[in-house]
Amino acid sequence: MTARYYIMLGAPGAGKGTQAKKLSDKLGLPHISSGDLFRHHLGAGTELGLMAKKYMDRGELVPDDVTIGMVRDRLEKEDCEDGAILDGFPRTPAQAEAIEDLASNLGGEVARALYLDVDKALLVERLSGRWMCPEGHVYHTVYHPPKKDGVCDIDGLELFQREDDKKETVEHRITVYLEQTAPLIAYYRDKGTLAAVDGDQGIEQVQQSLLQEIG
Ligand code: AMP
Repeated sequence: MTARYYIMLGAPGAGKGTQAKKLSDKLGLPHISSGDLFRHHLGAGTELGLMAKKYMDRGELVPDDVTIGMVRDRLEKEDCEDGAILDGFPRTPAQAEAIEDLASNLGGEVARALYLDVDKALLVERLSGRWMCPEGHVYHTVYHPPKKDGVCDIDGLELFQREDDKKETVEHRITVYLEQTAPLIAYYRDKGTLAAVDGDQGIEQVQQSLLQEIG
């Protein structure tokens, strides 16, 4: 079976993680989030994590060579042998070239780039209301509040707000996205693998639209 890699494309707050998790369950492919990989390294206090933190706290991108190496290591693991849903990677043209090579070296291909198109005002609202638990379960004060304030429904752990979800950093992350990542929309459109979906819709509608695109 050819390994199939799906790329979630869109601004911070577009819903890439939420949709990727659902797609991962439906398609039976692992959800690989580069941001989660960095946060995992950070939590474990590795050298890579400490290095990445400098960039993450400022809302900047971690350098390509480090990011590509980290994602490559993850995709080479056995659970990715049929492919993966990539969330937050690629974010630069160099990373997009790298995933093409990596996919073909692993006997697969980038099947689709799934672009979640979201209005900018909504992005800021989604990110600044976002809370998460240390295990990565995500909540939103308005759209998906936990049953008990400040506590994860699933594992009872205390919720926290990501440092880079604070308002000033959010604005900067969106600027970085527009400058460095948005050009990938045209890149995938030219390749004929882009599927653009209206990400302003509710979670379930967006998921249905994505599944229709995947076919
Ligand atoms: P995310 O959880 O996807 O919003 O990522 C959080 C932060 O991790 C970003 O703001 C970057 O600092 C870093 N990061 C995640 N993915 C990448 C990537 N593909 N390239 C560079 N930096 C990344």
